[in-house]
Amino acid sequence: LVRLRTRLSRSQNALGKGLLTLLSREHLDEDTWEEIEDTLLTADVGVQPTQELVERLRERVKVLGTRTPEELRGLLREELLTLVGTDSDRAVRTEPDTGKPGIVMVVGVNGTGKTTTTGKLARVLVADGRSVVLGAADTFRAAAADQLQTWGERVGAHTVRGPEGGDPASVAFDAVKEGKEIGADVVLIDTAGRLHTKTGLMDELGKVKRVVEKHAPLDEVLLVLDATTGQNGLIQARVFAEVVDITGIVLTKLDGTAKGGIVVAVQRELGVPVKLVGLGEGADDLAPFEPEAFVDALIG
Ligand code: GDP
Repeated sequence: LVRLRTRLSRSQNALGKGLLTLLSREHLDEDTWEEIEDTLLTADVGVQPTQELVERLRERVKVLGTRTPEELRGLLREELLTLVGTDSDRAVRTEPDTGKPGIVMVVGVNGTGKTTTTGKLARVLVADGRSVVLGAADTFRAAAADQLQTWGERVGAHTVRGPEGGDPASVAFDAVKEGKEIGADVVLIDTAGRLHTKTGLMDELGKVKRVVEKHAPLDEVLLVLDATTGQNGLIQARVFAEVVDITGIVLTKLDGTAKGGIVVAVQRELGVPVKLVGLGEGADDLAPFEPEAFVDALIG
């Protein structure tokens, strides 16, 4: 697994450095606090969390009186950690205690990195000694099943697929059936995510979920969001949350943006934790989300 901190620091550093520079000004006047607010908003932290953070910082800086750079850094670190949250369970649930395979459904809009994330996650699990079955239930995007199967061959996971344009729910059903029959540890189901007809999506994902649950309950529903899409990503998150119970978020393409604040915004939006982050296109570019490493990467 890649080290979150070292891999993030290049792109994320800007936010923390900017905040520290502003906080270090001799006179923290209204304009400076506004600049601090703008910096947070630009990094996609979101309006309400930004206001909360600024309020707490203002209060604590006031109490502190004179302040050394170390004190400011420590204070900012603590407050950012509070915002990101350190007490959530961020483990991907793949080990049910019932003897059945762990069943993980991966959802999200096309292009966010769903298939890539499913492949990377399979790799992590296989490297951990678990046997994995992949279900290519994105039967809509022509190349998706091929792409997933290629991942499967690469990492050593069997892929169950159906005919192009076929019924996603029946592929998902077959994948879980296969997983049970061969005694696999985990079944990962990649799904389609075209958003232009919300009812279509609802029907399809709802059906996949129902059909899978004829076998056994889902252990995890991961929503994949592209970190570079800002507010749009949040709107997508809302739509998916209406259809399925999201249990964890995967934030992809964090390598390509300085807007790490989206971690905070999306957790608030859905009330579920970011569990994994995508840090590149390669097989090893998936990392568990660690709040401390993340905040350390932010403030450099
Ligand atoms: P899907 O349509 O949601 O299944 O998306 P894909 O898995 O096909 O990914 C879309 C594109 O995003 C591909 O070119 C991926 O290589 C790329 N991608 C996925 N995850 C990441 C990531 O964490 N970082 C970067 N830079 N690219 C990514």
